[in-house]
Amino acid sequence: MTAEQEKSEIHFADVLPCWSCKGPVGGTALFCETCGAVQPPRPVDAFARFGLKPSFDVEIGSLEPLYFNLQRRLHPDRFVSKGPKERALSQSQAASLNKDFETLKDPVRRATALLENGGHLVHPEGCNTVSDPVLLMEVMEMREALGEAETSEDIAGIESQTRRDMDDCLKELSSAFAANDLDVADRLNTRLKYLVKLEDEVRARKFAPKAMA
Ligand SMILES: [Zn+2]
Repeated sequence: MTAEQEKSEIHFADVLPCWSCKGPVGGTALFCETCGAVQPPRPVDAFARFGLKPSFDVEIGSLEPLYFNLQRRLHPDRFVSKGPKERALSQSQAASLNKDFETLKDPVRRATALLENGGHLVHPEGCNTVSDPVLLMEVMEMREALGEAETSEDIAGIESQTRRDMDDCLKELSSAFAANDLDVADRLNTRLKYLVKLEDEVRARKFAPKAMA
């Protein structure tokens, strides 16, 4: 077990007093077991919010039931008769859960969160800092192929190639994080961002084919 994991385990066990009844509230529990009052969201990362250890390998399908269950319990209808403080807390809990679920669901955001957790500087979105010549070449070639694609078969070919590249990239990211090799993970995450963009462009071409000259 790494030091990071141990730290997050300790974090899980943190017990704080309930703001309403001062009873003990453990971990990232949404509600006080003593008085039932909704609690403020803890300042934890997206993984800890859902009781997970930081890892790239999140099975989002198995997380969905928990997420929907928590969102149901925080539904505004359930707080109509409560005071303004509980209404506000339920809203900020719901917002935190939503934001963190989106982070876990999206591989690029999940990888970025893990890199930041590890103290690794991540270049902000849209920042043109592709210093990797191999990646730059790959992106240029794929763009060129897409620009030159004439038939729907051409586009379908590029689409399945992009899909395969993304699958490979995701597998490599998983291994890089498992090995705690954050430099490699950072590079792969940049590649994944480009592949996601490329996939969007391929889809756009699919539904709006190039006008015939
Ligand atoms: Zn309480």
